[in-house]
Amino acid sequence: MELLSLLYFLSCTIVLASGQNDYVQIGGIFGPDDHDLEVAFRYAVDRINMDRILFPHGGLKPLIEKVSPYDSFQTSKRVCNITQLGVAAIFGPSSRLTSNIVQSTCDTLEIPHLETRWDPKPHPRSCLINLHPYPQSYSRAIKDLLKEMQWKSFTIIYETNEGLVRLQEVLKSHGPSEYPITVRQLGEGHDHRPLLKQIQASSESHILLDCSVEKILEVLTQAKEVKMMEDYQSYVITNLDLHTVDMEEFRFGRTNITGFRMVDPQSKSIQNAVNDWQFGEMRSGRRINITANTVKTETALMYDAVRLFARAFVEMNRSSPINTTHLSCDDPGKWEPGYKLINYMKFMELSGLTGYVRFDVDGRRVDFPLDIIELDRNGFVKTGLWDYRTGINYTRTEDEKLSIISESLQNKTFVVSSRLGAPFLMEREPKGAYTGNERYEGYSMDLIDEVSKILGFKYVFELVPDGRYGSLDPKTKKWDGLVKQLLEKKADLAICDLTITYSREQAVDFTMPFMNLGISILYSKPVKQPPNLFSFLSPLSVDVWIYMATAYLGVSVVLFVLARLSPYEWRNPHPCKQDPEELENELTLQNIIWHNCGSLMQQGSDVAPKAVSTRMVAGMWWFFTLIMISSYTANLAAFLTVERMDVTIESAEDLAKQTKIKYGAVEGGSTASFFKESNFSTYQRMWSFMESARPPVFAKSNSEGVERVSKGKRGYAFLMESTSIEYVVERQCDLTQVGGLLDSKGYGIALPLNSPYRTAVSGAVLKLQEGGKLHMLKTRWWKEKHGGGSCKEEKSSATESANELGLANVGGVFVVLISGMGAAAIVAVLEFLWNTKKVAVEERATFKSALQEELRFVLKCHGSTKPVRKGNAKEDSGGKSGGTGGGNSQGPYDKYGNVNKSNKSMVISPDELPSKK
Ligand code: GLU
Repeated sequence: MELLSLLYFLSCTIVLASGQNDYVQIGGIFGPDDHDLEVAFRYAVDRINMDRILFPHGGLKPLIEKVSPYDSFQTSKRVCNITQLGVAAIFGPSSRLTSNIVQSTCDTLEIPHLETRWDPKPHPRSCLINLHPYPQSYSRAIKDLLKEMQWKSFTIIYETNEGLVRLQEVLKSHGPSEYPITVRQLGEGHDHRPLLKQIQASSESHILLDCSVEKILEVLTQAKEVKMMEDYQSYVITNLDLHTVDMEEFRFGRTNITGFRMVDPQSKSIQNAVNDWQFGEMRSGRRINITANTVKTETALMYDAVRLFARAFVEMNRSSPINTTHLSCDDPGKWEPGYKLINYMKFMELSGLTGYVRFDVDGRRVDFPLDIIELDRNGFVKTGLWDYRTGINYTRTEDEKLSIISESLQNKTFVVSSRLGAPFLMEREPKGAYTGNERYEGYSMDLIDEVSKILGFKYVFELVPDGRYGSLDPKTKKWDGLVKQLLEKKADLAICDLTITYSREQAVDFTMPFMNLGISILYSKPVKQPPNLFSFLSPLSVDVWIYMATAYLGVSVVLFVLARLSPYEWRNPHPCKQDPEELENELTLQNIIWHNCGSLMQQGSDVAPKAVSTRMVAGMWWFFTLIMISSYTANLAAFLTVERMDVTIESAEDLAKQTKIKYGAVEGGSTASFFKESNFSTYQRMWSFMESARPPVFAKSNSEGVERVSKGKRGYAFLMESTSIEYVVERQCDLTQVGGLLDSKGYGIALPLNSPYRTAVSGAVLKLQEGGKLHMLKTRWWKEKHGGGSCKEEKSSATESANELGLANVGGVFVVLISGMGAAAIVAVLEFLWNTKKVAVEERATFKSALQEELRFVLKCHGSTKPVRKGNAKEDSGGKSGGTGGGNSQGPYDKYGNVNKSNKSMVISPDELPSKK
């Protein structure tokens, strides 16, 4: 070795002495297994030397040292040998154990050091540039990818502690409130099956694998053996050399394998570089196994490192020529341009085999691009791009994704999990006569059939073993029912009257809702009441009857008083007798009661008021009776045709207010959870009632609840979803829906979380909805099949009812009556006063004494005859009878039938005599 160094020293001296100092020496330190790195290093130099624009004379001269990756002493000696020969930069090594000694030597001698290895340690202000993606940035890329893939819970499998550094951002970003993530380390040996089996038992489907490239295939093969490479399993592999692994075995599998790469084997630059290497090695008679598909990240980074250095050197050399110096480790000097050169490189940008190359001030590659790759039947394909600034950007369009999924659906047979419950899924009669899907029929079966026709998959229906919908046990944190089937990957789809709820949405995926509904109450129809003997009283409320009776009596008394008050009600009982001793009043209390009764009953009576005031009273009373009797008659008709029902419950509030009628819901269903989780006080009260009720009020299924309502003699109401109620009331005419909907939600088809088929199935559901197919299916299973439409006629009358008329309805009639009474009373008083005044004048008495006299008589309140007074007798407006209207004012009788005093001398013919009443 000493000899080799001497030879190099001599050759360099000769070159320098001869004036051809355009050759710049660079050192490369490689381990025995770094063959690819060395090739990349050498051919990068070759390619640069061929570029006569960069180096018109001379070029780069590689000084390669092979060292053991574990022997730092030997490495330090080799580095010193190189520095003694005078180098402008040192590349490598890739070993973590030996790189430190190289780094410190370069720092001391100020020789630029270019690394391409994974190095999480910071090296501030050192003479180093590392082209490998900076660990923290890469960690961020992994975190971004998991976020984009919407992984909630996952298991990390890592090999070395270095891997945990790579995953630090992922671990840091996972909050304590989120689903737990599991971290497991791969064992030392080659058998990872026990570990994988444990993960399989935990039904974890998302694996984040961080291991060396050599182990990737080993782990995946064993995962396949323990059935961890099935549908819905998803792997993210962090190794940047994933693209170099031969995935032939998994290309047609159902597992999603995703990763990152820096090197695109399809890119022109990689293919040209590899062609160079293959051609060069062949010429030199050496074997080379590198193809474009197997170029590792570090290899490409080495190529980029050499190119970066060459460009920086040439550009710096142009402004101030750089010469290398022979530096000894024993007598350390410094290479003056060293730091300048490394700083120059830090600010350079280059488009290399690994994308754009740029650094931060500490020489770290923080900002770099990565391809997102996914395994499909053609091998790894690029599906997106990660960039430090913009994060994840998928390059696959939705259409491309959909067409890939549709293609994969063609060969699939979905296991569809469901539960029996009319009309969604029912056993076909006769039971036991059919096999396979033929065993069942119903809305769910038809819907899946329609979806399968659109997407082209096959399906087998299987009943969920526990017959439950799916609820989370808060203690064990485990799901049951259909949700459990999906979580355990025992089913691909779950369909029935499965409500989309927030908590289920956390565990499984749902398609677009195929039916909308809300919670309502199923209850027995009200029982018809036996006819009531006094039902004729129903059209008016009790208080109206009382008011009417009072009005009847009141009007009678008022009419009586006014009739006594009014002089025009007093008439000659014997019209032939011209000078009657007394006058008679026909409106006695009995007559008035009879008269009022007659008009109330829409009949007549012989009694008729004659004075304006009394006629006003009678008129008002007739009006009152007209309105009252018409209202009564109208309402009576309604009351007699509508049978009265004992409706007690009309809404959830009514249920909550009482305890006599028990109520419940399906156990573990979304209706029960609605009440359990509600913040509304009525529903909270209802939930505590249901929970504490003994015997329990919960039903195992809708049909059990329906049976309980129907047999419960209006002692049990069932909180049920409106769609199911609709189905039941179409067939069981004794049952009905009470009140409106308490909420609004939908049924959806459930799929395992992150199922690739969700968008396709959702699209198919939407298509069926838009084409009217869903409506048609609903009509078929709700209204037509299995006795639909049996209760059509009965529906209408049940809800009708007629209400008795309250005071508010007829109060105005009373007001009119009372006002009429008042007006009549005023007129009667005026009449009375007017007559009294006349009497006073005629009798030449004072008005007061006449008034007293008249009042005394009025207030006597008995006797229907009255002595004739002058004022009374003088009235001459007469006809035959005051009650029958005007007559001849010149006639022999006044309007009360008294003989006109002014006509006393006249001879009265029998025709002129008033007819006797
Ligand atoms: N559809 C409900 C569910 O998915 C079951 C019936 C109910 O709770 O009323 O849980």
